[in-house]
Amino acid sequence: MAAEKIYKYDVFCVTSDVFISPSSDPLLPTANMVNTNGNSKSERKRVLVVGAGAAGMSCAHHLSTHPERFDVTLIDAVDYCGGQAFSIPLDKERHGTGWMNQGVQGGSYIFHHTMTMFARQGHHADPVNLQVSFGKDENFWSNVFPTKLLAKHQKEIKRFNTMLKIVRWFEIFFALIPIKYLMKIFWFSDEFANTIVLPMVALFLGTGNYTPEVPSIILERLCTSQTYGMWYPGDRLSVASNLPHMVVFPRFSTFYEDWRKNLISKGVNVRLSTEITRVVKRDKTGVTVKLIKRTAAPDNHNPNSSWVPYDAENNADARAQEVEEHYDELVLCILADTAKRILEPTASFRENRVLGSAKFADDITVTHWDSDYMKKNYENFYNVDQAVSTLSGVDQSERNRMGQKSFKPMYMIKMYSQDLTKLEMCFDCTNYQSQFPPEVPFEKHVFQTIFLNKSRDGHLWSIDEIDEKKIIRKDWWHQLCHSWTHYAFVVPWMWLLQGRNHTRFAAAWTLVNAHETAVISGIAAAVDLGATYPEDLERDKFALLSFRLYYLLAYGKWYRKKATKDGEGKNWASGIYGSVYKGPGVVDQERLTWREENGIKD
Ligand SMILES: Cc1cc2nc3c(=O)[nH]c(=O)nc-3n(C[C@H](O)[C@H](O)[C@H](O)COP(=O)(O)OP(=O)(O)OC[C@H]3O[C@@H](n4cnc5c(N)ncnc54)[C@H](O)[C@@H]3O)c2cc1C
Repeated sequence: MAAEKIYKYDVFCVTSDVFISPSSDPLLPTANMVNTNGNSKSERKRVLVVGAGAAGMSCAHHLSTHPERFDVTLIDAVDYCGGQAFSIPLDKERHGTGWMNQGVQGGSYIFHHTMTMFARQGHHADPVNLQVSFGKDENFWSNVFPTKLLAKHQKEIKRFNTMLKIVRWFEIFFALIPIKYLMKIFWFSDEFANTIVLPMVALFLGTGNYTPEVPSIILERLCTSQTYGMWYPGDRLSVASNLPHMVVFPRFSTFYEDWRKNLISKGVNVRLSTEITRVVKRDKTGVTVKLIKRTAAPDNHNPNSSWVPYDAENNADARAQEVEEHYDELVLCILADTAKRILEPTASFRENRVLGSAKFADDITVTHWDSDYMKKNYENFYNVDQAVSTLSGVDQSERNRMGQKSFKPMYMIKMYSQDLTKLEMCFDCTNYQSQFPPEVPFEKHVFQTIFLNKSRDGHLWSIDEIDEKKIIRKDWWHQLCHSWTHYAFVVPWMWLLQGRNHTRFAAAWTLVNAHETAVISGIAAAVDLGATYPEDLERDKFALLSFRLYYLLAYGKWYRKKATKDGEGKNWASGIYGSVYKGPGVVDQERLTWREENGIKD
């Protein structure tokens, strides 16, 4: 099935050295119509924001609140905004809803900036209590009810909890040690490490097959942090028995389209199907770049252009003409390896080293409704053969009752039997996303199976077992590997690059691959250029803390408060460090989106 056609621009004019925006809707005000406080275009700082994913949109948004100071151009190679966050159409008759979010699907309550952005465009996230299903048959366990695997590893589970305390006390020593070595240092069995510990982390941030390389601090914080610990509080019998409170995101194609229109109304020049191929000059006058026009692909996702050297087979727009443009400042909201390639002719030694240290893997997601594949490879239902009635002599009947009544796993992991350290990941999107009806026959559920790291682990994949007739769509992703090297050679050195040569870097990869990081990174770039951090977010204690820490890490600067004490945002943060979000952009009722879309009142 072809992907949803969100919007298409047929007109793309090139006049001497400027493109005329294909996206400036004539019905909406343009840059010339917004209040620039008497400053002509030439007096304002001309900023080119590259990439209209969460980071680029957020950067352009915060710059656009100062039309008198910034003349903002936002470009993206594809013909929609949202980047990795987009929606696809579904057969409503069969699946119960006409759309789903592909790629980015949900997050945590600590995503205050993300939720605020939803609210500003009139959208909301819905709450969900996450149920997981890890492994199959004798390797199966879940956070909903106890299984034989957990009973078998009772001693190691207790030791695991003790280990977490030690790691927390001596975090400075353990922080960067890869999880695979931590497991060896504390004498855990391979089976315990591979079937119980690795899936707990792989889920978080989708670290996938790089989980053994993930720094130990991430595992430790996931289990011990009261703010972002998905598996907090730990369980001495079941490892993890809480149902993490999460949120599922609104329809991304609509949210980002509304945001695009809003940016245009605030004077941002949004130019889609426009790719930066090279930065040709950076000097005291600013930045000179080369751009090409891309031909929008029918599914909105253009193949790489002919300027991408490692993809000679799939490249496109070989005859596109490069056009030179000049800006005062450049914000690159694209992946690190793309940024490195584009900067190549003018890149500094530092840029080459830091950007070159970020590692990526090529993964594919298969969105399908092959319930037989799911039954063969995952535990989708309460499994009476694997459930146990006691753990270390403690009665577990209540959790079993809950499993029998309401086990609906949303996130699943399969370990490959040939190599238990390697995983396949899967979402039951029907159980997870909030626009699906609560009861859909399993045979009509929509699943998204993720096959990881083609070049290294492709030989393990069972992708060919999925019934072709039941495949809705396949997507390739160039995913950040959260290896310990990322936290040793990339993240701590970003501040050395920021703001030099009129160039700044934003995007999720600058810290951890999450929508919230992308949004914060975009705000940080805007603030560093002179934009204001929103007053309501400044009053939200947790949002401010997250922003300050990011800004300190990525720019080496401490953000000083500017907003008055009282006003909007003051009551948005409560709980420990203000991590419980009470602000706008998220509702209380589960599956409210389904109710709203179908006019259901209860
Ligand atoms: C399969 C998958 C699932 C995910 N699920 C979640 C999730 O559930 N929750 C979560 O929080 N995070 C999730 N993430 C992480 C996700 O990466 C971030 O949440 C976030 O959306 C990334 O935003 P970004 O702006 O950093 O990058 P992107 O969204 O990648 O945006 C970069 C943009 O730059 C454009 N671009 C690239 N090169 C050029 C060029 N040369 N010229 C012009 N434009 C260019 C691209 O077209 C793209 O639109 C997921 C990621 C993947 C891959």
